[in-house]
Amino acid sequence: MKTIGLIGGMSWESSVVYYELINQKVKAILGGFHSCKNVMVTVDFAEVEKLQHEGNWEALDEMMATAAKQLEMASADVVILCTNTMHLCSEAIMNAISIPFLHIAEATAQQITKQQLKKVALLGTKFTMEKDFYKDILIQKHGIEVLIPTDEERTQVHNIIYNELVHGQIKDASREIYKTIIKNLEKRGAQGVILGCTEIPLLIKATDVAISVFDTTKIHAESAVEWVLNN
Ligand code: GLU
Repeated sequence: MKTIGLIGGMSWESSVVYYELINQKVKAILGGFHSCKNVMVTVDFAEVEKLQHEGNWEALDEMMATAAKQLEMASADVVILCTNTMHLCSEAIMNAISIPFLHIAEATAQQITKQQLKKVALLGTKFTMEKDFYKDILIQKHGIEVLIPTDEERTQVHNIIYNELVHGQIKDASREIYKTIIKNLEKRGAQGVILGCTEIPLLIKATDVAISVFDTTKIHAESAVEWVLNN
């Protein structure tokens, strides 16, 4: 088995889920006493959040590239970044290492295509919903139409992530807000919804929603396991 390198801490609330999922998946496939070989570099989310909201993506590029290099030096065979938003730094990461980098939007697009869906909604931080780095992979590379919530709804989605979910706070009232927003997107034609922030699956489950749900944390973690078992 090869070794997964994880860049975690954004937030650690979802990195814990990645750790659990990769081990569960390896055990489900190999059985017995098997667990997943991995190394994780965890950053301080306070530094990340500050630089994000200051718009200092150069400093974040450097921070992510350094973490990826640390993983390569620690004998990781493949790198995954345990957050959707920070995939804004994908290029810097790929330029810093010689091992493969598994992109979360790429893994997600493959699952959407498998289900033959043409139009999906994207929920995540404002960075993920509003900038092109994530949507472009779905739209340009995979021909998937992407709907994002309205301006006001995006602010609600973003604030719940940063004020609650990354602090491990799971509130019923916020779940209801997300459910309403997803319903509105369904009315606009969304056949599925991408939970495009690794903490959203802590709040929203497939049973909360009528359309197909794409849990990016699970999809990404499981794609990394498939990679290490098949390479
Ligand atoms: N984990 C989140 C994501 O998947 C948000 C935290 C971050 O800004 O990295 O986008």
